[in-house]
This record gives sequence, structure tokens and C-alpha cells, in this order.
Amino acid sequence: MAKYIFLTGGVVSSVGKGVTAAALGKLFKERGFAVSIQKLDPYINVDPGTMSPYQHGEVYVLADGAETDLDLGHYERFIDTHLSRVCNVTTGQIYSEVIAQERRGDFLGGTIQVIPHITNEIKHRIGLVPRQTHADIVIVEVGGTVGDIESLPFLEAIRQMRSDVGRENTLYVHVTWLPHIGATGELKTKPTQHSVRELRSIGITPDVIVARSDHAVGEDLREKIALFCDVESKAVIPLPTTPVLYEVPLLLEREGLGDYLVHRLGLEAPHPPDWTEWEGLVAAERAERPHIKLALVGKYVELKDAYMSVREAVRHAALAARVEAEILWVHSAELEKGRGWQELEQAHGIIVPGGFGSRGIEGKIAAGRYARLNKIPYLGLCLGMQTMVIEFGRSVLGSEDTNSTEFDRNTPHPVIDLLPEQRGIGDMGGTMRLGIYPCHLVPGTRAAQAYGVPVVEERHRHRFEFNNTYREILGEHGMAFSGLSPDGRLVEIAELTDHPFMLGSQFHPEFLSRPNRPHPLFRALVEAAAARAGLRPAERSREEAQAKPERRDEEALQQR
Ligand code: GLN
Repeated sequence: MAKYIFLTGGVVSSVGKGVTAAALGKLFKERGFAVSIQKLDPYINVDPGTMSPYQHGEVYVLADGAETDLDLGHYERFIDTHLSRVCNVTTGQIYSEVIAQERRGDFLGGTIQVIPHITNEIKHRIGLVPRQTHADIVIVEVGGTVGDIESLPFLEAIRQMRSDVGRENTLYVHVTWLPHIGATGELKTKPTQHSVRELRSIGITPDVIVARSDHAVGEDLREKIALFCDVESKAVIPLPTTPVLYEVPLLLEREGLGDYLVHRLGLEAPHPPDWTEWEGLVAAERAERPHIKLALVGKYVELKDAYMSVREAVRHAALAARVEAEILWVHSAELEKGRGWQELEQAHGIIVPGGFGSRGIEGKIAAGRYARLNKIPYLGLCLGMQTMVIEFGRSVLGSEDTNSTEFDRNTPHPVIDLLPEQRGIGDMGGTMRLGIYPCHLVPGTRAAQAYGVPVVEERHRHRFEFNNTYREILGEHGMAFSGLSPDGRLVEIAELTDHPFMLGSQFHPEFLSRPNRPHPLFRALVEAAAARAGLRPAERSREEAQAKPERRDEEALQQR
């Protein structure tokens, strides 16, 4: 029987509930439990795939192709487990399912209501997590803040779960915020008290309160929250803001939360936690390191959350290379207007991330040209690979009209194009090449060298592909197609032979980078950038040399 931990948020949003959920998962994972984490999102979109990154931040793609909330990225990076489609549920999915059932006549003339029909479907989706992932511990994060209208059915469903699966199998963790009053220099617990009262009014009594704040929380405040909110004082867990994300599980552990949760769920941990590796990561992140600058040329750069996984992948690779990588955010549309070039000039490496639509495309192409001509290390992620190919194509074919048909339907040289089977698709949601696909690496290339294995599996999210009509001519001029689909038909990685490091992948490597296992392509970029900055390549540590490449999902599941 799986145990469930339900996580709700109080007072305000954006206090790091997703990271807290991920860190709770890590507390269990470190003790040898199989953990899964699910996010319940109250919005009505079926998934975030069709939402603007400005609205929602990055769309995180799972191995099975699910387009999910960026919190799933935190979950996977912390617990290092491949999550499944069932781990992200939205109001849109719940209603579409219930309405489809109603149209089929499944309810035999009954009136369909929020309780029980919607709440039953939510509970069904929660129950799918342990069934599909075989997790011992299922952490369920409810999006939004207690008091929102949209999240009420989810809260009602998790309330019912306690009697459905048993009190001993459920815990409610409420994450709140303690505001700091500058005039008196105090932290205030009143909003937390109100939020707990609100939660109780819908029938949920929290077992644990995680009190987030920008300041240290004293023993007196802990006691006060315990008293007013009716939880044990050791179940009030202060969590001050830390600039080092991966320190959060260590902070929770230090407050005794790991043992407390295990005890409250009546469990016995397979083994005690060993935090050596994560303590090492945190210490490495805190240590003074030589500085490098990487320009990230994107079009959603005002909202850094839009590139969450890219940012984290850079952080992981920099940690492993023992450098500190500062990201210079460059707006691709600004480059088109002649602005932002000073950043590119300072950069030791350039990343062009994924994206859709034509805005800012010429700026990305120009950044690629700058990187190629000035021999600046370059990593293109999905769209960034396509713009790299367009740029190279323009120079080889001698035509500035070379393009992707995504941006110019009538281009005379469609170096990036739709596959014939994609042409008839009209729907925008869920119709791309999504999820993991194998990629065969061509021996002797930079890609093969970076990965050190012959075959990898990487996550995709795109519609357009490299057009094979141009393989020969671009190949003759120095573009190597270093990663291919097993049948050789799809170009998964392209790189330039006459350049220190200029490589683009049709997939999104950022989704597979982990704090203790940086992605090989990011690692290669950071090392090339460090070399450009005049830094000697760091010695690879022994653990890394032995680190296994990403396991296949099925194997990962069987081994648990
Ligand atoms: N817009 C491009 C495509 O659909 C690239 C997508 C992406 O970068 N994720 O192929």
C-alpha cells in the first residue's frame, strides 16, 4: 500500500512549493524508498503545451512525451527518477474525461456534479501514480494557494483520500510564508494562522507546516505556529530562502523532517540517508570558482522560468567543470535591432534554446553566424539546432532566403521542413514529436566523444526536422550529422567540423541533466567555453568517469 503526502500552499504563491515537494521526495529517496511526485494543476488547459512561456514558464517534457509543468523538472532533478504522464493532472484533463464519459452515456442519466464525479476522477488519477510507477511514497502537490476557487475540487479530493486509503497512509503538509515587517524587524505568523484556518474549514488539518521565509525562524515562532495551528512543534519546519537550490533537502533534513515523516507514516526506512554527495554539491556550488560567461539568446528572456531546465543544466555542467557560469540573457529580437551585441562579444559560449514562431528568429540566426565566424562555442537546443542549420545553409547555398518552412513557407531552400506525415495535422495540442527517441552517435564526432557511448535516448518536442535533401551539400562543406535516428533518416545532432565546438541537437538535452550527472553536451559546451576563457580543463572526478549513461526507462523501473 502506497503512502501519500499531500502538499498545499498557503498565504502567497511562488514561495518554492515545487522545490519543497521535490526535496520531500529526496528525503525519502535517500532512505531507499521508491518515490513518485504528482502535480495537480488547477488551470483549465489540458496541458501546458499550448500555453505561452510568459504565462507558464517552461514546458517540461517527460520520457513518455507528456508536456508538463516545470515543477516536474524539479521533481526529476531531485529524485532522479523518470516520472510518467500520470504525474501531471490539470482541471482540463479531469473535465474532458468526465464530459467524454457523460457523452458516452456512462452515467446512465445521472446529473454530473463536482462532487462526486469530478472529485472521483481526481482521486482516480492520484491512484494511478502508485499503480503505474510502483512507488512506495506518492507526493501530491496541489498547485495554487489555499483559498483559490480553482483548486477547491482538488482539495476536496485529497481530503477524501484520508478516509479512502486510511489515516495512517496519508499526511498533509502545508507550505506557508512568514512575511517580514521591516519597521519592527519581525516575522509574522498571522497569515499562516489564517491559511491553516482556511484549510481546516474545508476539512483538512495539516500534519506538518513548512514555514518559508527570507529570515531565520526562531524557536519562539516555531512554538507559536505549533500552538495556533495545532501541530507538534517538531512538525513546524522553518525553511529560510537559500540561493543554493540543492540545499533545500539538507535544510529539511537538519530540521528533522525526514525522520518525522517516516515515523508518522509508520514506516521503517530501508537504510539511513547518506547526504555526502549532496553536501558535496552544495559545497562545490558555494566554493569560489573561476568565472565564465554564457550568452543565452532566447525570446522569453524576461521570464527566466521559461528556461528553467537550461539554466539548471548549465549550473550542473559548470559545477562538474569547477567553474561558475554566469548567464547573460540576450533577447534575440533585440539583436535584430542592433542591441545586445555587447553581451555576445563578452560571452565565452552561446546557447540558443528552443522556441516556436518567427519572432526573434533572425536574431538567433545572427547569433549563430557570430558564433561560427568568431569560433565561439555554441550549443543549439532544438530550435537552436534549426537556426544553426539555417545559418550554415545560407552561407553554403549563398542564399539569405534559406529558411525553415516554419518561418517562410515559400523559401527556395527549406533546410528545415515538416516531415510528410506531419503535414496534415491541424491540432496544436500534443501533436509534435514528443518524448524519448533513440539517437545513434557517429563515431569520431564531437557528439560521440562527449557522450562516450554509441546510443542515447533523448527527449523531443518539435514539429520540424532537418531536410535530408541538403545533407550532402552541407556535409561537403563541413557540417557533420553526428546523431541519427536508428534508421538513419532523421538528423538528431548536427555539428561543424571546422570549429572548436558548434553543435545543435534536435532534442532537448536539458531535460536529462541532473545535479550529480550533468548532461554530456552541456558539459562539452562549458568545457569549450572555459577553454576559450583561458581556463585549463578540470580533471574529471573518479565518480564521474564511472558514472553510467542515462538508463533506459524500463530498466530504471525494473531496478527499483
Ligand atoms: N519550432 C521548432 C519546431 O517545431 C522547434 C521547437 C523547439 O525548439 N522545441 O520544430
